[in-house]
Amino acid sequence: MVSFPDPSCSPFRLAAAAPLAIEKFRDPGITAKGEIRASVSMVGLTTLWFNTGTLCNLACATCYIESSPTNDALVYLSVEEVAAYLDEIADLKLPTHEIGLTGGEPFMNRDIVPILTICLERGFSVLLLTNAMRPMRRHETELLALKKQYGDRLILRVSLDHYSSQAHEAERGAGTWEKAIDGLRWLAKNEFPIAVAGRQIAGERLDEARIGYATLFASIGLRLDVTNPDQLVLFPEMDAEADTPEISEGCWSVLGKSPSSVMCASSRMVVKRRGAARPSVAACTLIPYHPGFDLGTTLAEASRPVALNHPHCARFCVLGGASCSG
Ligand code: SF4
Repeated sequence: MVSFPDPSCSPFRLAAAAPLAIEKFRDPGITAKGEIRASVSMVGLTTLWFNTGTLCNLACATCYIESSPTNDALVYLSVEEVAAYLDEIADLKLPTHEIGLTGGEPFMNRDIVPILTICLERGFSVLLLTNAMRPMRRHETELLALKKQYGDRLILRVSLDHYSSQAHEAERGAGTWEKAIDGLRWLAKNEFPIAVAGRQIAGERLDEARIGYATLFASIGLRLDVTNPDQLVLFPEMDAEADTPEISEGCWSVLGKSPSSVMCASSRMVVKRRGAARPSVAACTLIPYHPGFDLGTTLAEASRPVALNHPHCARFCVLGGASCSG
């Protein structure tokens, strides 16, 4: 199962349902049934994500991007590489107002402070996804200085897999709970804008999960509104291996859903693959490795429509458990 759509820390779990049919998601233009495959046009790049590298201090049981202390499939981005994309945003006068930084653990990247600085200097809001553990704590002095200079434009979203230490550590490993909670306490004490990315585990109701997180937050002095998705985002577990319908153009009207509501209508993610001469732009944060979702090296190239030719498109973005096939 997967908790969607946390770009940095979505856990996958083994599937129990029927596996994905092999004839699906083969042709970017046509579904297995011969229908025109749905695509999503860019309506305006409001958020640009940078994957700062897949190395992480943790090796979570089911990390969707397989981050670990040894996985450098996506290598560290440099501040110069980030700056080039910020230049392109300015040159093209794109409507981008938010920069997202994810990994791996972004604080493992040796350029993370210059990257944060250049993004904030240029007026963007920055959402940084972190586990709030030692890599972040090594940068306390610099973080306090950035907060003093740029105020609430730097938001740290801390991944906490569950409100119980047992479920959190089952995913993240022994000894991870106290360190993450201590990092959250430090952020709260220093009045950083914080969000928490949590998980609604299988069989747990949304209200139960919210109450669990509210109780935890109260106990550690964190003032977050658990009903506000900007402060607590909860990702339900979904089966990442199970069969799913493909999305045809006709699905939008059947579902009453607009293509513009899907993430790839308004965001992209810059990655740098190991061995590549330069970074490239992936359609979204969810599919960082698939060559069919690599849209080129510039934001201009990457503004073209995205064919929804991956099970994640159907399962997580468009259907979310619904069906458009009747
Ligand atoms: S998973 Fe597919 S539909 Fe969802 S944002 Fe990525 S490319 Fe778009």
